[in-house]
Amino acid sequence: MTKSADLFEQAKQHIPGGVNSPVRAFNGVGGTPVFFEKADGAIAYDVDGKAYIDYVGSWGPMILGHNNPAVKEAVIKAAENGLSFGAPTAIEVTMAEKITEFLPSIEKVRMVNSGTEATMSAIRLARGYTGKNKLLKFEGCYHGHADSLLVKAGSGLLTMGVPSSPGIPADVAAHTITAEFNNLDSVKALFEQYPDDVACIIVEPVAGNMNCIPPVPGFLEGLRALCDEYNAVLIFDEVMTGFRVHKGSAQGLYNVTPDLTTLGKVIGGGMPVGAFGGKKEIMAHLAPEGPVYQAGTLSGNPVAMAAGLAALEQLGADGFHEQLTAQTTYLLDGVKAQAEKHGIPVATAQAGGMFGIFFTDAEQVNTFAQVCECDGERFKKFFHLCLERGVYLAPSAFEAGFVSIKHDRAMLDKTIE
Ligand code: PLP
Repeated sequence: MTKSADLFEQAKQHIPGGVNSPVRAFNGVGGTPVFFEKADGAIAYDVDGKAYIDYVGSWGPMILGHNNPAVKEAVIKAAENGLSFGAPTAIEVTMAEKITEFLPSIEKVRMVNSGTEATMSAIRLARGYTGKNKLLKFEGCYHGHADSLLVKAGSGLLTMGVPSSPGIPADVAAHTITAEFNNLDSVKALFEQYPDDVACIIVEPVAGNMNCIPPVPGFLEGLRALCDEYNAVLIFDEVMTGFRVHKGSAQGLYNVTPDLTTLGKVIGGGMPVGAFGGKKEIMAHLAPEGPVYQAGTLSGNPVAMAAGLAALEQLGADGFHEQLTAQTTYLLDGVKAQAEKHGIPVATAQAGGMFGIFFTDAEQVNTFAQVCECDGERFKKFFHLCLERGVYLAPSAFEAGFVSIKHDRAMLDKTIE
């Protein structure tokens, strides 16, 4: 028995399912989750000492690679300063300045502790600001584990990936409406059905929770126009895409401006940090001055802020995103060539340092329905083969992969092989 398998059994006694939630996806691929002990750069080592080229990166945050020296140093310094959590600090102010500097659509920003908190807060704010109820989201997009966000996120088709959630209160379910990603007509139809009651649209501008589906041309622009027409708030959930697909995030890559943006993952440099922000007239509705309640004991805590700030400083370096994008393109070109050589039908998708590999005949995958048609059995085999050979992918055919700046040519070549 491996140490991972041992730990898994031991963990089951105290942790439902035996592991913390994201690794739930192992249920879909079967086998024992790999327990990790340490990591450096793009390599993670499991408790049995086996090394993996890591394309999961702690589910996205580790864009700089693991064990980044500047992040580590900043965390140690902040911890040594012994600053009490929950007290205002200069680091939080600098972090907020940095975010608004990178993303011009964010005029004001609030820090929270996770992506879920960021999306929940943005939706609550949109409802408070517009005085309307309905949240329009897209099937297959994931925005965190808050009730309203899980409604219809699951599907009987899914054995892997996005959780389905029975037990959502009826009033919450009634206020969450779902359209098809990359299908503007489905969005228009919902606005026509509820012309006065859609508070906001929340969208992953590149659907990373569907294994990386970029928006078709005109889709994001169309959402912008519909929100303007119906006075709804457009929320880009950039928890996954933020500072990853482009220096200016997906909104910079596709040149479409949302009203509110949610951030998480890479902005914490591996520590728990989320943020939401946008137009100042909307943000002005937040407490303490405005009527919409917003708080958080550990929000903006100095250790997490120090890590985030050290990460953001590196993400702003000239050429960072160009290099990350080039590494990712190199990987996907290689994977595609290998698949062709072996006669295996695959489609690939990329946005900056984010990628998807779909086992399908379709040239390009654009919708959730198409994702569900992909060959899950082939993915399972592929996943286990990769694991055996020391390549760690998300254990879900529905989750994007992430390249970090530390994936060098030799690692990419080894992966392609
Ligand atoms: N939004 C998106 C697009 C995500 O991918 C995730 C997490 O994967 C979340 C929100 C929730 O973030 P967290 O897991 O930090 O709560």
